[in-house]
This record gives sequence, structure tokens and C-alpha cells, in this order.
Amino acid sequence: MTGNAAKLRDGRGREVSYLRLSVTDRCNLACMYCRPKGSINFISHDKILRYEELLDLVALARDMGISKVRLTGGEPFARRDFMTFVESIRRRFPDVDLRITTNATLLAGHPHTLAELGVSAVNISLDTLDREKFERITGHDRLDAVRRALDECLAAGLRVKLNAVALRGINIPEIPDFVAMAKANPIDVRFIEFMPVGDGNLWRPENYISARDVLSAAARSAELVPDDHDRAAGGPARMHRIEGGVGRFGVISPLSEHFCDSCNRLRITADGKLRTCLFSDREYRLRPILRNPVLGLPKVRQIIAMALRTKPLGYEVLNPQAASGSRDMSAIGG
Ligand code: SAM
Repeated sequence: MTGNAAKLRDGRGREVSYLRLSVTDRCNLACMYCRPKGSINFISHDKILRYEELLDLVALARDMGISKVRLTGGEPFARRDFMTFVESIRRRFPDVDLRITTNATLLAGHPHTLAELGVSAVNISLDTLDREKFERITGHDRLDAVRRALDECLAAGLRVKLNAVALRGINIPEIPDFVAMAKANPIDVRFIEFMPVGDGNLWRPENYISARDVLSAAARSAELVPDDHDRAAGGPARMHRIEGGVGRFGVISPLSEHFCDSCNRLRITADGKLRTCLFSDREYRLRPILRNPVLGLPKVRQIIAMALRTKPLGYEVLNPQAASGSRDMSAIGG
């Protein structure tokens, strides 16, 4: 397969250019909103896609028109030889817009190499700047490791986006601290609305706070100037420059102001299931096809094309009163 095909479109005419590839369902944290302690059965190793299979899927996706690939998990750095895999992707696909989403607890020591490999951005999930709260949210005392990795990313000149899930009663009082952090550093801080995804998560209306309320809280601590660049480029975040600062602050509002009409994503889970919508449980099993010597990639291609024809509008699927979908976010990849 060579070169890029024409633009890939779904049945509603949305351009699909972005693949979120989960490399593992395992995570070394147990965040209360994602994979609370004791809530998960890990997928057995033989069902997890091998790195060569992931590379084949990236090749196929590139050929179909995908230009941006995000490696996620579980925790991607918790999978053995993850950095070697990142190098292989870069070697084989020098022009892919490659990004990583991580909790950053195992990231220290790698940012310099990631910068050399031309990784476009590292998204770090960090919900609090307070050590005790970090342990309460994630179940582990690892904030220092995250801060160290963040500093290394900045020193290496990597683009950093810092994602916090907005949790009413937990991290909302820290919004001014996050704004101050983005003001002083070239970081995009994004507060994401807490989503009711997965059986195990603790989504309750009383834990939810809207993006709009988050923005109001942020605007009380600094002057925010809307910066529409990300939305124009198809991203979900509503970003703001911070007057007198270097970084930005923004919100992602999948619930209060969904962006399904411009959704450009496909997801492949660590066990090789294609999902065309975060909020729909509909999955297409690619692994047995991929491993079948007769069917293989050509059939996988057909399945992706067929699945795209019915890629849903998430807001038609989502039930915000109850957790939607049976897979935890850690198994989907966020
Ligand atoms: N372990 C990696 C990390 O922490 O970034 C990657 C996987 S994690 C599932 C991907 C993203 O999903 C994280 O930013 C996490 O905060 C977000 N996430 C998980 N559960 C969520 C929920 N219920 N609502 C909103 N975001 C959620």
C-alpha cells in the first residue's frame, strides 16, 4: 500500500482523519472516573494486538486517509517496549501526525527521545496539583513522577496538553492554580466534562460540572481571550489565551455542547475492536479477521469502510442520566 487515498468520509459526510489506537487496556492508576480500583478484568495477552499488527493497522489507516494517530491505553507506557513501538511507527510512517496520551507516571526519561522522533504533542492527564488529592483520585501517590515528566517535556520542547477531568467538589477549587500554570508555561490546560462512560465509573449528576461553569471560574482568576484556532482545525477544545501568559486554558464539552457533527475519529481498542463512536457500544471485531491468513487486511479495510457508513451521532446514543456503554474508558482509550 502506498501513498494516501482521498479523504475518508463517513455516511454523514464527516471527514474521518484521526485514529485513536489503544496499545493496552492495563493501567498503573485506578482513577475514580475511569477505572476505579477492583472494577476491571484485564484482557488476556493473546487477545491484545501485537505491535506488528498495530503497525499494519496504522499502514491501512494511512492508506485509507487517516493523517493523525494517537497512541493511548490503558497506560501506553505500561506496555513493555512501548518506546520501541513509537520508534517503529515513526520510521515506517515519517509523515504521520503522531501523538500520545498518558498519565505521565512512567514518562520521565523519554521526552527527549519523543521530541527527537517528532511526536507532535503529548497529552498528559492530570486532574490535580495536590499530592493527597492525586492519591485520592488515582489510588496512587505518583504526582511527583508526573511533575518530573512534565518538566522534562517542557525542557525537551515538546508540545504539552494537560487534560483534567472536571470533578465538582474535587478539583474545581484548583482552577486558578491550573490557569496560573498555563500562564507561566507553554502548556494547553483543558478541563474535560466528566462523561458517563463505562460500568465502573462514578458518574453522578452531583459530580458533574459544565464546561461553561469551569470557564467562568477560570475567568475569575485571569483575563481569557477566546482563541478559535483549535475548533477551526476540527479539535474539540474551546481554548483561550491568557492575557500576559504563554500557555492557554480551555474546555472540552462532550456533554453540554457536543461536537458530534464534526467528529473525525475512529478508535481501535487494545484487543482489536473498532469503535466509531465513544458513546456507542457497537464494536467491530478486527482481530480475528486480521489474524486470518485468508481474510487479513483487505477484509479489515472493508469492515472499516462499512462501519463508517453508520458512524453514529454520539448525542443520539448518549444517556447522560446513566453510565453509557459497558466498557470502562481505560479499555477504550479515552
Ligand atoms: N492512561 C492514559 C491517560 O491517563 O491519559 C490514557 C488513557 S485515559 C482512558 C484517556 C483519557 O480519558 C484521560 O485524559 C482521562 O482523563 C480521560 N477519561 C477517562 N474517563 C473519563 C470520564 N469518565 N470522563 C472524561 N474523561 C475521562
